[in-house]
Amino acid sequence: MSRIQLLSEEVASQVAAGEVVERPASVVNELVENSLDAGARRIEVMMRRGGISLIRVVDDGCGMDRDDALLCLERHATSKIRTGADLAAIRTLGFRGEALPSIASVARFRLSTRERDAVAGTEILVTGGKIDYVRDGGDAPGTQIEVRSLFFNLPARRKFLRTENTEASHVEHTLQLQALGHPEVGFVLLTDERTVFQLPPATNLRDRIRDLNGRALADELLEVPEIAFHGIAIRGFIGKPGVSRSSRAQQIVFVNGRPVENATLNHGLREGYHTALMKGQYPVTFLFLEMDPAAVDVNVHPAKREVRFREPSAVREALVEAIQRTLEGDRAQWSGAFAAPGIRPDPSTPEEPASQPLPLPGMADFHTPPEPILPAGLTQSFQAPYASVELPEDWSEPLQQPLAVVAPQPPVPAGAVPPEPAPKQRFRVLGVLGKLYVVMENAGGLVLVDQHAAHERILFEELRRRMETLGVPSQRLLMPLTLQLGPRDSDWVEQNLETLQKMGIGVEGFGSGTWKLDSVPQFVRSDEPQQLLRDVIDELREVSSQSSKLRLGEDVIAKTVCRHAVKANDHLREPELIRLIEDLLQCDLPYCCPHGRPTMIQISYLELEKKFGRKV
Ligand code: ADP
Ligand code: MG
Repeated sequence: MSRIQLLSEEVASQVAAGEVVERPASVVNELVENSLDAGARRIEVMMRRGGISLIRVVDDGCGMDRDDALLCLERHATSKIRTGADLAAIRTLGFRGEALPSIASVARFRLSTRERDAVAGTEILVTGGKIDYVRDGGDAPGTQIEVRSLFFNLPARRKFLRTENTEASHVEHTLQLQALGHPEVGFVLLTDERTVFQLPPATNLRDRIRDLNGRALADELLEVPEIAFHGIAIRGFIGKPGVSRSSRAQQIVFVNGRPVENATLNHGLREGYHTALMKGQYPVTFLFLEMDPAAVDVNVHPAKREVRFREPSAVREALVEAIQRTLEGDRAQWSGAFAAPGIRPDPSTPEEPASQPLPLPGMADFHTPPEPILPAGLTQSFQAPYASVELPEDWSEPLQQPLAVVAPQPPVPAGAVPPEPAPKQRFRVLGVLGKLYVVMENAGGLVLVDQHAAHERILFEELRRRMETLGVPSQRLLMPLTLQLGPRDSDWVEQNLETLQKMGIGVEGFGSGTWKLDSVPQFVRSDEPQQLLRDVIDELREVSSQSSKLRLGEDVIAKTVCRHAVKANDHLREPELIRLIEDLLQCDLPYCCPHGRPTMIQISYLELEKKFGRKV
């Protein structure tokens, strides 16, 4: 007897089902996709025991006539594509013609469907892939599918299911994604007769996000200005700088209406947020990318969660552009809270005209030591009086100095113009808390600023500007150092010599992995320059594998800057504080430090009023 045999239709279906139907959530996903493709306006999902004992999906879509109702249970039967060419231009969620037969082969399956104007509908019962009966059905127009005892005939698969609660939460997540992708459709999710959510058809995405996740999250989001870049249109919402999660659970991206997971998208998001995201954290996004269906292959995985882009770099760049524009656009809004007439009038004297400039009583309380007098002709070379590192005027000239460059208190020339006073109403510094947090008031209410984080941000942006223009100044090592690098590291250094140069790191190759290091960035205080280079290689290589050359190096700068920023306990005098805040407000991303931690926290009057019970 020959050893090879054709599998029976039944076993073949079960094998195929293994790929499509992994757990109750995949059943719900497939059924809801079908309902959406059928033009449903309302979809109700009911599950019992995490979907293991029952899943029912009811829609008010176009329904099927009897022939189609029978045909849809055949493998590779679909109304959505006809030719191979159609695969390159898929606009529906389904196209494989596999879901229904797969589900029906591993459960007790009931389909009841009726076209809108049909006199009667069709009801079909299938058990483990075998049709039990076909008869007239009397349900409302649309389609109802019930899936009972999932994997009853595949005990091995059934064992892999998690607890009912876990499975239920996967179903809920799946349906939430579908609901986000289709705000115009009403969704209901019931579990064991309890309503998990009930979403009315919404007119826009913002309402849908609010209905699903609550107002608190909706308020933390920024709307992406609709952009088209490289033929990719992007819209949606993303978390404000500093809003992040420790998992990707709320990093949601749709491509042509389909929620997908994809490494290119992950990298694009991270690069777009860049310094606005803490290490190990993930952004909150509700993004929708629309592109030519021919530019994206959805036929990668049976569950259709994965996609492959024809031009990944275009997708990544478009995403980065959209996020950066959104984050930078947000600056205007934030500084709105700092705009004149800034400070709220005293509520006890409401008749006082708002335009009247307000006195700044707190200012005089500061003890200001006398400014040092300098010999004539000396000018102040340093523009950031609060910094502990001096950035020389001419960055291109290497300083013949030992590594540690610590600036003395910047000298102020006699008769020099004092730094421009802050526009009076923008904010008022009230004091410093715990030697670290600047307490201020502005138009919006109370503001707390972490002075260390604020300074990091300012210095970071300054260095980045330098890097993009002149390059970061370097300091020559008194004694050049040699170091030996492995072939991969050597190769990487060779490819990136120019970038390293821009960052102020001077290296020269002697062949066979030997390198001479003769200068390092000026702002770096390191006793071990070789270690610095090794760290830079490690970090930059990680960055460059994911993102574009342009951004290369910023992470490393951000890290280095941190060590040189104002330390928590540095005492700043009042004009320095004002200067710090003014400079911070000038930054592209003022609300978080280069590591994504917040620099400022605004506590609005509304929040204060709520806390004090004046408003509910
Ligand atoms: P696919 O969605 O890939 O075409 P399915 O096995 O999921 O494959 O469904 C097969 C066909 O059954 C679909 O192409 C569609 O014509 C029909 N169908 C499935 N579900 C519905 C529904 N809820 N309403 C109307 N038609 C449906
Ligand atoms: Mg389908």
